[in-house]
Amino acid sequence: MPLYVGLAQALLRRKPYFTEVRVDTFSRNYESNTYWLIAEQKAIVDLGSLTTAKQLPLDEACCIILTHLHYDHTAALDQLRLSGSTKIMMHEADAKAIGTSASAAHFFGARAPQYHVDTLLRDGTRIDLGDSILRVIHTPGHTPGSICLYEDNSKSLFSGDTVFPYGGIGRTDLPGGSSHDLVRSISRLAKLEVSILYPGHGEVTANNVNEQIKQSLTFAKANESPE
Ligand SMILES: [Zn+2]
Ligand SMILES: [Zn+2]
Repeated sequence: MPLYVGLAQALLRRKPYFTEVRVDTFSRNYESNTYWLIAEQKAIVDLGSLTTAKQLPLDEACCIILTHLHYDHTAALDQLRLSGSTKIMMHEADAKAIGTSASAAHFFGARAPQYHVDTLLRDGTRIDLGDSILRVIHTPGHTPGSICLYEDNSKSLFSGDTVFPYGGIGRTDLPGGSSHDLVRSISRLAKLEVSILYPGHGEVTANNVNEQIKQSLTFAKANESPE
């Protein structure tokens, strides 16, 4: 399968919780990373690219979990016909703004994607994949309904565009963004024990991740706009 990236599998061999996490990080123009989680139930995290979507057995996935509504994470959903068994999940605060300029589609010269969210997520929602559970952490800042997903056993964090490797943070100058909320959200992430970070863009990292998140917090505080 062309979507496979060796790095993620190597990392997971060290901490084998998900049987496999396949990552699409082929650098095209703009798409986010797409994660294909193989637990007892299969799940997808973010789906910006139709090319990627067409290569995945979508009907085998119980759910497509969207970290937030931006175009680069959701564009493929506009054109997919999913069987009813694959549920689309998103935080309620972002789901409200689907189809509007809050998707930032205009940045990509596109119209806002339209799709139906089956399951509205909230802070603390548990997404049960059988042998592992993803816990939803509401992390507003990049968008009002941004979420991260944390899996306790492998200490995995899927961070969307809230934090990126090596101290990176999501931008807060798009509609609904808040540098104050971002600081609060990253403060919560900094309290977690994280072994592997799966960001919305960039590389998967298992290199002293807690330290990386602390760097993101420092950076976010330095960028917090005065009010
Ligand atoms: Zn993004
Ligand atoms: Zn984004």
